[in-house]
Amino acid sequence: METTLAAENRDVSRATALAQIVVRCMECGRRYDGVTPRTACTECGGLLDVVVPLNRLTPDDLGQGLPEAARNSGVWRYWPLLPQLPGDAIVSRWEGNTALYRDDRLARFAGLQDGALRMKHEGQNPTGSFKDRGMTVGVSHAKAVGAKIIACASTGNTSASLASYAAAAGIPALVLVPATRISAGKIAQTIAYGAKVVQIDGDFDRALALLRELTAAYDVYLVNSVNPFRLEGQKTIMFELLEQLNWQAPDWIALPGGNLGNTSAFGKALAELHQVGLIDRIPRLAVIQAAGAAPFAHYFQSGFEEYEAVHADTVATAIKIGDPASTPRARRSIEVTQGWVTTVTDDEILEAKAVIDGVGIGCEPASAASLAGLKKLRAEGVILPEHTAVGLLTGNILKDTDAVTTYHFEDVNGAPRTAANRPLRVAAELSALEQALSDALHR
Ligand SMILES: *Cc1c(COP(=O)(O)O)cnc(C)c1O
Ligand SMILES: [Zn+2]
Repeated sequence: METTLAAENRDVSRATALAQIVVRCMECGRRYDGVTPRTACTECGGLLDVVVPLNRLTPDDLGQGLPEAARNSGVWRYWPLLPQLPGDAIVSRWEGNTALYRDDRLARFAGLQDGALRMKHEGQNPTGSFKDRGMTVGVSHAKAVGAKIIACASTGNTSASLASYAAAAGIPALVLVPATRISAGKIAQTIAYGAKVVQIDGDFDRALALLRELTAAYDVYLVNSVNPFRLEGQKTIMFELLEQLNWQAPDWIALPGGNLGNTSAFGKALAELHQVGLIDRIPRLAVIQAAGAAPFAHYFQSGFEEYEAVHADTVATAIKIGDPASTPRARRSIEVTQGWVTTVTDDEILEAKAVIDGVGIGCEPASAASLAGLKKLRAEGVILPEHTAVGLLTGNILKDTDAVTTYHFEDVNGAPRTAANRPLRVAAELSALEQALSDALHR
């Protein structure tokens, strides 16, 4: 048992660390400390950024000052560029440290040269999606401020991640999810990790709006990507990928865009890396939305003049969002990186997914938007033949097995898809295996 005195000392040192953190409103510039959790400016309602010191850094400086609890984390090892949370509040599940794959069949599919494309697989995180990178920072902040309960609205991956990190921290979690069209695997994870799950008769956008009402009225720590601490963790996808490329920036970084938390985090991360001198040019972000859930792509096409929320519809449930909460921050990211935003159809997403799966890498549907988008932008001449690119794979293939079986087992217009791979059911006799052997050889 912790003595009362030790607990008091701990609380004092946590409060001191939190008081030194700076959070700033992106609209009016008003500054706050890290003591009180906030997801919007109390003055103007604007979105908030954590401000980190931007002194010149070399790669050797990055691990300096790293708290003991964070030693194995692929997020916290970029400590000097992250909010300086009290080390004893850090909740890490060894997130990050994900692979950067090269498979030239994917490059050729996208119309790029051999060696010009890498895929960063964030599906290798502890709960199977990049959400863990933000969650380690969000939940650590929640723990540092003494939160009694942590909540999120989710299309599934945020809830699985929150449930896991909240369990690790020993803090109760509440999640709101749409009652329909959400992957069974993601809900299963969330339930298994012990979060209280509430299914809403409405879509993700409705769930988030409701939850923001709840957190305004009750003392509940909100960990959706409007939370500026979560985005700090997601910045490390850029840090790690550029480190893996020896700090040589590619021309493009393509990612799926849903609620636009990653888009927001990546622009901030790249601007910071440039400012501290770790990269000498900023790669361009290519944000890819599903055609049925593309309010940000339409906003981009209007020259950021006209924004309109939509009713979202796509097979890629992780990006099925009609009114992204981080739109102004994401716009800033596109401007800072001279980025691009486009759409791909569900068929294009599923085709790209079948290719990524088929080379043995695999991902969930939303992730494949990055490769489908690269292919489209290459075909349109936005991306040039000599350009280099990294595509982000946001989630693990097992996140949505229904998408896999539907693709391979269900006919389209009375025929299987060209890449359909159906199991053969045969009698348990050697002779019956001859057909299987021949099929397998000729796939
Ligand atoms: C959350 C999520 C996205 C969307 O990311 P945003 O930051 O909300 O734009 C894409 N793919 C997967 C697998 C996700 O879990
Ligand atoms: Zn403000």
